[in-house]
Amino acid sequence: MPGEQFIRDGRSPIPAKYTTSLVMRANKAGNTRPEIALRQALWASGIRGYRLHVKALPGSPDLVFTSKRVAIFIHGCYWHRCPNCKPHFPKQHGEFWAKKFAANKERDERKREELVGMGWRVMTIWECQVKKELIEQIVLILNVVRYGEATDSH
Ligand SMILES: [Zn+2]
Repeated sequence: MPGEQFIRDGRSPIPAKYTTSLVMRANKAGNTRPEIALRQALWASGIRGYRLHVKALPGSPDLVFTSKRVAIFIHGCYWHRCPNCKPHFPKQHGEFWAKKFAANKERDERKREELVGMGWRVMTIWECQVKKELIEQIVLILNVVRYGEATDSH
């Protein structure tokens, strides 16, 4: 089909299906849809004063409340391998993706530990949680940012 584009950056095998390509590209984007939905809900809840995609911090957290030392990651379920909704696994190039996903998880965990070691509280919010329990997630963020509750999400 003309106009179709696949990932051909030398790191990823070409996805078998166009839809797979779209999913993978969407999961790489910075301003993802769950992130935007969460930010809109935060705004509506009166929670302000965070910075976005702070590259100076390990893992470039998506939302950073600097003065509160709270860093929030909004993870795409597919790319970061959500433990809650267990996203599907690509049928083709299985071994490649298994390694890739394992590396992603390992990096997420390492960045999180680096932040914790620097005295940050770290929250991880999954795409499916934004879709299914947005209010609960907003309340969690509110409790951590405004009332100083400990983070226990991972
Ligand atoms: Zn999920």
